[in-house]
Amino acid sequence: MIEVHGLYKSFGDKEVLKDINARFETGKTSLIIGASGSGKSTLTRCLVGLIDPNEGHVLYDGRDFLLMGTKERKRIRKEIGFLFQHSALFDFMTVEENVRFPLDMLTNMSKKEKDNRVAFVLERVELSHAHKLHPSELSGGMKKRVGIARAISPKPRYLFCDEPNSGLDPQTSIVIDSLIQEITHENDITTLVITHDMNSVIEIGEQIFFIHKGELWWEGTQHEILKTDNKELLSFVDASGFLTNKKG
Ligand code: ADP
Ligand code: MG
Repeated sequence: MIEVHGLYKSFGDKEVLKDINARFETGKTSLIIGASGSGKSTLTRCLVGLIDPNEGHVLYDGRDFLLMGTKERKRIRKEIGFLFQHSALFDFMTVEENVRFPLDMLTNMSKKEKDNRVAFVLERVELSHAHKLHPSELSGGMKKRVGIARAISPKPRYLFCDEPNSGLDPQTSIVIDSLIQEITHENDITTLVITHDMNSVIEIGEQIFFIHKGELWWEGTQHEILKTDNKELLSFVDASGFLTNKKG
């Protein structure tokens, strides 16, 4: 579980995050949604310590990240898996080498243990057959699956996914979303997904956090969001084109 208490962040005199309080539960996918410029990336960067907030606390299973020294922060960072917006694979490495990379960097596993772990996660994302290929030989959806395999190979307790569907067609997006959710449940990890995609929201939004102008404006489930009468949230849903598309 990741908890955020009374988080504020300003850049100069521009207040970007105001009194954010949230609880991202273990074993669930939490979605952070909001218009462009609402503060989603800033919040995520505060959570992982890329920037420090002006005020507030971030607790990783009770451990206060912001009160920690560099060494302890490093330990927590090793427990976080990242799935980046554009997959960010190493082009000069094969699929297998990409997935092995964090094991070399972050763990003391033996060669045999690494071999087994790489084979297991590639099997999990259904890419065993592609282990010798390079990223340039893969489709967008396959690249995302390699990204997922690489993020989970060192068995993270926390998983951050930034716009996992960017650049994917709607069908592939559903496959990737479902995979992220299944992996979250199977491994009982705390997963945060930043997204614009209302299809994802409806598909996997067990816990949804809507950020509006730097404030946590609405919080609820995929079932509740369709019944909301919150004006700003409705206008966000409307702007996504989701309801229009569903109507036909
Ligand atoms: P989102 O990810 O929701 O699109 P961001 O968190 O990137 O939003 O940005 C929120 C607001 O903070 C924007 O107005 C942006 O211009 C501002 N902002 C973000 N990072 C910086 C920075 N390093 N310096 C100044 N302003 C920033
Ligand atoms: Mg952003």
